[in-house]
Amino acid sequence: MKPPKFEYHNPTTLLQVLDLMHQLGDTARPLAGGQSLVPLMNLRLARPQHLIDLNSVQELRFLRAGNNLLEIGAMTRQRELERSIEILERWPIIAEATSCIGHVQIRNRGTVGGSLAHAFPSAELPLVMVALEASFIVRKENHQRQVASSEFFVNYMTTALEPDELLVAIQVPSLSKHTGWSFQEISLRHGDFALAGVATLLSLNEGLIRDASLILTGRIPIRATEAEEFLRGQKPTESIFQEAARLATVNLEQDSDIHASADYRRRACGVLARRSLQEALARAYPKTKDD
Ligand SMILES: Cc1cc2nc3c(=O)[nH]c(=O)nc-3n(C[C@H](O)[C@H](O)[C@H](O)COP(=O)(O)OP(=O)(O)OC[C@H]3O[C@@H](n4cnc5c(N)ncnc54)[C@H](O)[C@@H]3O)c2cc1C
Repeated sequence: MKPPKFEYHNPTTLLQVLDLMHQLGDTARPLAGGQSLVPLMNLRLARPQHLIDLNSVQELRFLRAGNNLLEIGAMTRQRELERSIEILERWPIIAEATSCIGHVQIRNRGTVGGSLAHAFPSAELPLVMVALEASFIVRKENHQRQVASSEFFVNYMTTALEPDELLVAIQVPSLSKHTGWSFQEISLRHGDFALAGVATLLSLNEGLIRDASLILTGRIPIRATEAEEFLRGQKPTESIFQEAARLATVNLEQDSDIHASADYRRRACGVLARRSLQEALARAYPKTKDD
């Protein structure tokens, strides 16, 4: 199928993009990798009258790893995250989650900003960005604001972005010492959208859990607050993790569709939560060659 007619704009600077977005309002959509927007247009589920192509705007494409902060330009390709040595070494949960997105051809085109703005419920990057407490830099014509990842995802495929606002960058804080991580998901086949997924961070101090971040898939990424509170200050054991997984999923809201029931998804999240806590624990104290 072909999309409905639209007018194509090819700005080369961020200011030109913001100016077009201001003029065209909700008749326009930014085009990033096109991996979600173009299929939606072909299916006539999206009918923008104007497409503002971001692909020639080089200032939106960067990866900067500082001492305490990783900054990712919105037009950075997903594949670049997966292959960055700095991300692999310092934010490995991002690389791991990104490698689960579709197939390599999709990650070659798909962008970080596009995935976050699209906010698909089973998408990997929103989960990880909430777990890492990332901030999103959002701009419109004469204004810039910073939105916490916990506030960015509002409802099913709906974000805090206004029609004339562009996500320009993502800021991710560094992980503290002795923080283990895990990203786990279940899909029918490799490369399919996940039926359930969990992003976990576990920080330890003198053998006890100092902090925990447990984010589960749902309409929007769901923070398992009760489980996190339960884990803080505990000695990490299998039975503690089992109880945390129970707390995380006992009232977890999930949707049913043709791929899986809500009940299946809830149970799958519980299993993944327990496994991911175990894996994060093992990574919090990496083995040295003397062990
Ligand atoms: C076969 C297939 C399998 C896939 N599997 C997965 C998967 O397993 N996991 C997963 O997470 N994704 C998956 N995807 C989606 C893929 O990750 C997309 O790349 C992503 O969802 C959208 O990114 P994009 O750069 O292609 O954005 P686009 O499709 O260009 O845009 C998506 C939406 O975001 C808006 N947008 C884009 N950039 C910005 C911005 N900077 N500011 C504001 N709004 C913006 C667009 O206007 C549009 O509404 C799959 C796609 C396909 C085709």
